[in-house]
Amino acid sequence: MNHKNYINNQWVDAVEGKTFEVENPFTQEMIARVPYSSATDVDNAVVAAKNAWKSWKILGSLDMRDLLREVAVKSRINDHEIAKIISHESGKPLIECLDEIEWIASIFEYYSELGRDQRGRVVAPVTPKSMSVVVKEAYGVVGCIVPWNYPLLLMAWKVAPALAAGNTVVVKPSEITPLSIIRWLEVACDHLPKGILNMITGFGDVGASLVEHPDTRVIAFTGSVETGKKIAMMAASQLKKTSLELGGNDPIIICDDVDIQIAARGTAWGGLLNGGQVCTSLERVFVMETIANDFIEAVVEEAKKVRLGNPMDGQTDMGPLVSRMQLEKTEGKVSRAKLEGARLLCGGDRPSEFEKGYFYNPTVFDQITSEMEMMNVETFGPIIPIQKVKNLREAIELANNSQYGLGCSIYTNDLEKAMTAAHDIKAGSFWINDPLTDNEAAPFGGMKMSGGGRELGIEGLDEFRESKHILIDYKIREKDYWFPYDLDQGRKT
Ligand code: NAD
Repeated sequence: MNHKNYINNQWVDAVEGKTFEVENPFTQEMIARVPYSSATDVDNAVVAAKNAWKSWKILGSLDMRDLLREVAVKSRINDHEIAKIISHESGKPLIECLDEIEWIASIFEYYSELGRDQRGRVVAPVTPKSMSVVVKEAYGVVGCIVPWNYPLLLMAWKVAPALAAGNTVVVKPSEITPLSIIRWLEVACDHLPKGILNMITGFGDVGASLVEHPDTRVIAFTGSVETGKKIAMMAASQLKKTSLELGGNDPIIICDDVDIQIAARGTAWGGLLNGGQVCTSLERVFVMETIANDFIEAVVEEAKKVRLGNPMDGQTDMGPLVSRMQLEKTEGKVSRAKLEGARLLCGGDRPSEFEKGYFYNPTVFDQITSEMEMMNVETFGPIIPIQKVKNLREAIELANNSQYGLGCSIYTNDLEKAMTAAHDIKAGSFWINDPLTDNEAAPFGGMKMSGGGRELGIEGLDEFRESKHILIDYKIREKDYWFPYDLDQGRKT
């Protein structure tokens, strides 16, 4: 396997020869050295993409479809190998990594078709013998900057529609999880035309070079609010388009008309999946007080059942957190929550049975108030805070009492309650009785500080296309509104 940059379909070292280490969070061993790209490497990748765009943007739609579909086929053929690499670099259970490969394959399939479906529209002409056509055009070179929690999936949400819209791409993986993207490029993308998909590796400064490069026309970014703001400011100086998918502090509302066991299992899964390191993890739980005690007890039971272990083991529910930094951040949040008066019901510490690995026990708190840090700032760890509410109105108010607006879930059998909450809560996704389930044909994205722009669906394709109005007059003639003006005479007929 290469541990290099990918530019113009060539595997290359960083020009200055610098590298950085990638660690396995389960064994805590260094597993690879990867190029630490410089601004020159970024420039080389953008130039390759810019040159490749000339032929990619005019490629016939059937050829483009076939090339993108082939990515899906090869991703599936190599699913186990790539899934193992994701698991090694992120600590995510293998089963979730296999799901990730299946998702990326279906995203490439979906956009391979959607990209050739509509390229604009025809609108009614303003004069006889003319036509108004709206054409949706590619921007040019798109820079895609991705995080570590779903390294391949969040890359595919950008790369597949960007290519299908006729752009070329430079990807910057997270410094924590570059290896799965490297191997995926190697085994699933080698048939793509030279230079349409390039990759440079490194830390935030490499991402910043990509944003600041004058020839990247769109920056598609998933990551923290803090980095999103920096990218928006850098891009603004060149009036460059950005699509920002940022953090969240997602609520779930548990109404008192539901099966408590199912709601508790759904809440535990949605809060602890991937160690709570999901942008849409359930991070604020609001339960109606009439069922609160039973529900809280059931969530604690579910959290205690979660099996921690080697992420490569098929029976592991939760692996280690992705890094020492993520573990220490989680510990800090838990100790501050205790100081703020939250009651710890389970977890709240590292498991004793592992000698190595950044493990943290699934943690549940109650006696929560809205002022506590957990209820205001993204947690991104295996922590479920549960707050009691009197009724739906209070739950909706608390759910909206947040700087974020990424996703929101509700459990209820009452359609009126479900739809009232769906309309009244500001969130880019709203899940009724099915937390965290996405659909590649429907848009995903955030409101408020969770970002702007949408991924997936037709909306996700439109992020990478700009509209051009072409007016065609098919009879050359003088127009009555040209010079000379004469207000007294009125318009010529
Ligand atoms: P991060 O913001 O630290 O890093 C994300 C990427 O940005 C990395 O590739 C990093 O190298 C790069 N980067 C860092 N500084 C940069 C800069 N100044 N200029 C350009 N690029 C820069 O985020 P992370 O820790 O990798 O990921 C976790 C965050 O991502 C969480 O806040 C999570 O909620 C968010 N997230 C959001 C979504 C979503 O779809 N809304 C999905 C997954 C994760």
